[in-house]
Amino acid sequence: MKRLLIVEDEQLIAELERDYLEVSGFKVDIAMDGEQGLKLGLSGEYDLIILDVMLPLLNGFEVCKQIREKHQIPILMVTAKKEDIDVIRGLGLGADDYITKPFKPGELVARVKAHLARYERLIGTKENSEEIRIHGLLIDYGSRRVFVHEQEISLTTKEFDLLYFLAMNPNRVYSKDHLFDRIWGMDAMGDPQTVTVHIRKIREKIELDASNAQYIETVWGAGYRFRL
Ligand code: CA
Repeated sequence: MKRLLIVEDEQLIAELERDYLEVSGFKVDIAMDGEQGLKLGLSGEYDLIILDVMLPLLNGFEVCKQIREKHQIPILMVTAKKEDIDVIRGLGLGADDYITKPFKPGELVARVKAHLARYERLIGTKENSEEIRIHGLLIDYGSRRVFVHEQEISLTTKEFDLLYFLAMNPNRVYSKDHLFDRIWGMDAMGDPQTVTVHIRKIREKIELDASNAQYIETVWGAGYRFRL
């Protein structure tokens, strides 16, 4: 049974969400403030988190950011304010989706199911865990082959490792330094500029229009993000 965490300080809303989700076959816990939400969210016990933005002690943006640094699970943000939507989209918090209050509980359940299904496809079941398919891009880790709209393309070892890492962790922003440490290793020769060069080469190979990247997005001042 999938476990969900609702982080919501308005008790009636939290309980309403929980009831609908439980009826749909999920096991649900509730955290009533940001600190508790973060603590539970970091426990690794949950398959998806429904996270309100306005919370006591620690706001939803911060909770989202910190959980994302540790866990690759769907996070669905809930907000009552239109302005928050731009923040959720723009900051590269790693939220997978957002839903605005008031919403129909049925819509929440549908979104939760869609995100869980998408994550399963992406991260893969045991049988096909080595294969990622996103928007016409196919990355086969087992054979280290990459196809764009059925056309095989040729990547160097590091280009492949970099693309695979980003695609395995979509919607998350990684700095050049982080990617360099991750792919080249701490003691590697060279510098994080290498990442820029490799990203450019990957884009030339996988993007239809490298100046308007569909797969690997540049987040100015922050790094790169693989778009889902
Ligand atoms: Ca709230």
